[in-house]
Amino acid sequence: MNRARRFFRAGWLGWTCWALLAVSLRSPLAAAEEATKTDGSSRVYEVRKVLDVPYYQGADADPAKHKLDLYLPKDQQDFPVIFFVHGGAWRHGDKTGFLGFYGQLASSWARHGLGVVVTNYRLSPSVMHPEHIKDVARAFAWTHANIGKYGGRADQIFVSGHSAGGHLVALLATDESYLKAQGLSLKAIRGAIPLSGVYRIEADGHMYDTMFGEDADTRRDASPVCRACSDAPPFLIIYADHDLAMCNKRYAEEFCTALKEHKASVTSLEVPDRNHVTLLLKAASDADPVKPSENQDDIPGDSTASTHDSPLTTHSSKVVGRLAPSPTGAQHVGNARTYLIAWLAARSRAGRVVLRIEDIDSPRVKPGAAQGALDDLRWLGLDWDEGPIFQSDRLALYESALRLLQDKELVYPCTCRRSDVERAASAPHAEHEGPAYPGTCAHRKVADAANLGDRPFAWRFRVKAETVEYVDGLGGPDTPVWPDKSVWPPINWPW
Ligand SMILES: [Zn+2]
Repeated sequence: MNRARRFFRAGWLGWTCWALLAVSLRSPLAAAEEATKTDGSSRVYEVRKVLDVPYYQGADADPAKHKLDLYLPKDQQDFPVIFFVHGGAWRHGDKTGFLGFYGQLASSWARHGLGVVVTNYRLSPSVMHPEHIKDVARAFAWTHANIGKYGGRADQIFVSGHSAGGHLVALLATDESYLKAQGLSLKAIRGAIPLSGVYRIEADGHMYDTMFGEDADTRRDASPVCRACSDAPPFLIIYADHDLAMCNKRYAEEFCTALKEHKASVTSLEVPDRNHVTLLLKAASDADPVKPSENQDDIPGDSTASTHDSPLTTHSSKVVGRLAPSPTGAQHVGNARTYLIAWLAARSRAGRVVLRIEDIDSPRVKPGAAQGALDDLRWLGLDWDEGPIFQSDRLALYESALRLLQDKELVYPCTCRRSDVERAASAPHAEHEGPAYPGTCAHRKVADAANLGDRPFAWRFRVKAETVEYVDGLGGPDTPVWPDKSVWPPINWPW
């Protein structure tokens, strides 16, 4: 850390860039909430967005991939600029990012006075190297030529990117040929900050075939570690202590050494307790968007920011998400996906995360599975602010909620077996959700439960027959089939 601080102080962007990186690696995205105009004392700016700007309009231009987004501190002039390239193994992703993450990251930086450009580029398998880097060079050249019109300084453009994006900005900042083709030189880049980047495309193995082909010379020329040169701009190379194998300390330090051998100005920074993904995502993990960092004394102006005074904090603390593992066996990759979405949905809005163990399906609960789920969540790098709460400790709460539903006749006793439902169902339904309940028992009232004798029954929600339209945050507009769902008991009937 100290080396990095000296580097920034002595070098290029001084405290501004370091402060923003420090903030973004610790708390940042939190600051990602949209509404943010504060008084001048805290140096937080309103963000102006200019989206989907075409940076290349040749005959072969791609209508989606040859576009970039601008995030600018509103009404400001002469601000430095970060040119950011997304990750996704050269095959996936875009400038918006998962759940809008890149946009939020860019907004949080712009709020602190930086201009941010986030670019798309064509992906494999549609194209192969060197088309990705050629697009990145085009987008950079557009930025260099045009950012002045938006208030940014063309002589203060820093390049950054995550994963494959880290590779692309590292290559852009070491192999001058791509900028030369755009009429620029490496001098156009004020500094480079690759995050968990790939610096060597290994000559053997098939992992890179789709993106770089099988030719060893091509792969070498596509490797920033082989293009290190004395003209390279200052580098800050950031990686996680638990990074992916192809992006880990070994490769990052190899690249760092290669740059040093050419007398380039370079610093590396290993971030503890992070993996390849959380290095970036943790930027959103702190519920306090303007929390002073331990380097607060390096950040003039920000020291006036108070957690309790922040309208962001007040607003966003309403968001509460949960991680809800069922301790019925080992966790699998589908669970990991669900946890990541739930965690990110809360963290990206500076929300709280609660961990709740879904252990009331008691016949299926397996000893040790709850602890296993906790271990897996920690291994994934996900954290929580409250819990674990065990549902089995809260049965009285559920019982009182059920009474409430019964008092309002919002539930009814259902004696159907699963096979009955499958046979009777005729409504269209999503296959993975099973058949829609046909309403066989919907004529019953709550009081009828007393007349069912020994017949086992479940309480089912009484759902109005109406269309409910909504916009799914991930999937877009949707009109679901909404059958009456079983409320209680929470077990799968054994027949
Ligand atoms: Zn029924």
